[in-house]
Amino acid sequence: MNQCEHIQELMSGYIDHELSQQKAQRVRLHLKECDSCRKIYDDIVAIRQEMGQLKYPECEESKIEQLMNEPTSKILSVIGWLCLTVGLLGFMVWQLFMFYTEPGIVTWVKVGVFLIELGVLSLFISVLRQRLIARKTDKYRNVKL
Ligand SMILES: [Zn+2]
Repeated sequence: MNQCEHIQELMSGYIDHELSQQKAQRVRLHLKECDSCRKIYDDIVAIRQEMGQLKYPECEESKIEQLMNEPTSKILSVIGWLCLTVGLLGFMVWQLFMFYTEPGIVTWVKVGVFLIELGVLSLFISVLRQRLIARKTDKYRNVKL
């Protein structure tokens, strides 16, 4: 193995400051004298720098998070949920009203549908309640990752 090959093997460790003082000194001296090894050294350093820049750009996730936390997005989201909830509730009330005032439907069917709706509503409220409690007690909700 010639001198250059030996130095090139140590190059990565030299760049990462992992060599002993003696070995690092040997690499340093060789780089001063040898153009081809210095060229390789410069290339490795340049590539490492580019990789480093690629590693820490503002990542997509944090951009999305930023977008989600933007006041306009939050307001639009709240308005959206509000419209959906009010619309859905209004529709349900109207539908129920039509259903229960319809004389053609026998009473036991009305009672059955009423029980089903009561069950769905109870489940919905219990889930909603759990979500609200979880939200209130979630001590990490303001922690930004
Ligand atoms: Zn060399």
